[in-house]
Amino acid sequence: MAADPTAPTASEAPATAREWHLAARPQGWPVPADFALVEAPVRTPGPGEVLVRNAFLSVDPYMRGRMNDMKSYIPPFQLGRAMDGGAVGYVVASEAEGFAPGDAVLHGLGWREYATVPAKLAVKVDPAAAPLSAYLGVLGMPGLTAYAGLLSVGALKEGDRVFVSGAAGAVGSLVGQIAKLKGAALVVGSAGSAEKVAKLTGDYGFDAAFNYKDGPVGEQLAKAAPDGIDLYFDNVGGDHLEAAISALGVHGRAVLCGAIAQYNDTSAPAGPRNLAMAIGKRLRLEGILVGDHAALQPQFVAEVAGWLKEGGLRFDETVVDGFENTPEAFLDLLRGGNTGKMVVRLDG
Ligand code: NAP
Repeated sequence: MAADPTAPTASEAPATAREWHLAARPQGWPVPADFALVEAPVRTPGPGEVLVRNAFLSVDPYMRGRMNDMKSYIPPFQLGRAMDGGAVGYVVASEAEGFAPGDAVLHGLGWREYATVPAKLAVKVDPAAAPLSAYLGVLGMPGLTAYAGLLSVGALKEGDRVFVSGAAGAVGSLVGQIAKLKGAALVVGSAGSAEKVAKLTGDYGFDAAFNYKDGPVGEQLAKAAPDGIDLYFDNVGGDHLEAAISALGVHGRAVLCGAIAQYNDTSAPAGPRNLAMAIGKRLRLEGILVGDHAALQPQFVAEVAGWLKEGGLRFDETVVDGFENTPEAFLDLLRGGNTGKMVVRLDG
């Protein structure tokens, strides 16, 4: 893999750089004051470490859960400390074998301009094979979530009728398209605007789509899939999950990937109220955590890269410019301001 000649060099590494800290734990929707922009020393890498100048940062829905002080599958962000998350950037100094200045790497110390990263937690990526930001989306964590959730947890079969919520987002847009590529008989998606709905049936080739803000999800789903569904990929929870439970046929499956409709709720969610239907229909509702599916990574990259090359799979990114705009990009993601993967591009 050739080093990128435009990548920054060690001599460009400043003594200090900016990072975003968690300033307060939100109650309900986060507000700008929950984040603090802090100038902090850039630490020279020690043995086994690399210093990375971040080029793109990922903002993801799961980060909202990490702002709460709650035990979960991933520890909460610490008050007064730098936040973290997916990032891609260029090595500017290396004390680790196999890593040289100019190498592009994916790692977990986002929400900062420069990161001193243990090399064992950094993965080299090829900027010639795909745009760097794609390693945060279609070829990264959201891509693997869609792939593993649909094919491994959801056990998609040819001829399945599939419904996916959050369908114009990073995960959902891939779920629907992969379902079509793998022979689903019907793919229905829901999203939160007319533009997104048009994209689903246009660019992404869904068979039907609806705007969940236009009317009850159950009614709109019944129109789009009058004979029901076999598989539901849930990114939203609440009314969407309730509608899917009603629409699923006997031995139907639901992949529980996310419940974004309730991430900012301050009270317990009202639904789904029809869970008991799962008994008679012998439904299987199974959660997915992408971290459990690392073994699928080589197969995922090979198959998805192939589809991208052939033009069978499309993806979108919503790019927010400027490190200072990272919290706003995150808030806009929660509000539905993105189509495809939301990323922040740092000033070159
Ligand atoms: P995304 O879909 O790109 O962005 C989030 C989208 O959620 C927004 O664009 C918005 O689109 C939608 N949304 C926000 N509030 C909503 C509401 N009240 N009802 C319905 N939709 C709402 O994000 P992503 O990264 O692809 O993640 C999608 C889901 O997968 C999230 O729930 C996330 O937590 C989950 N996830 C889980 C795993 C795992 O391992 N389990 C891994 C990655 C992601 P609209 O304009 O359509 O409302």
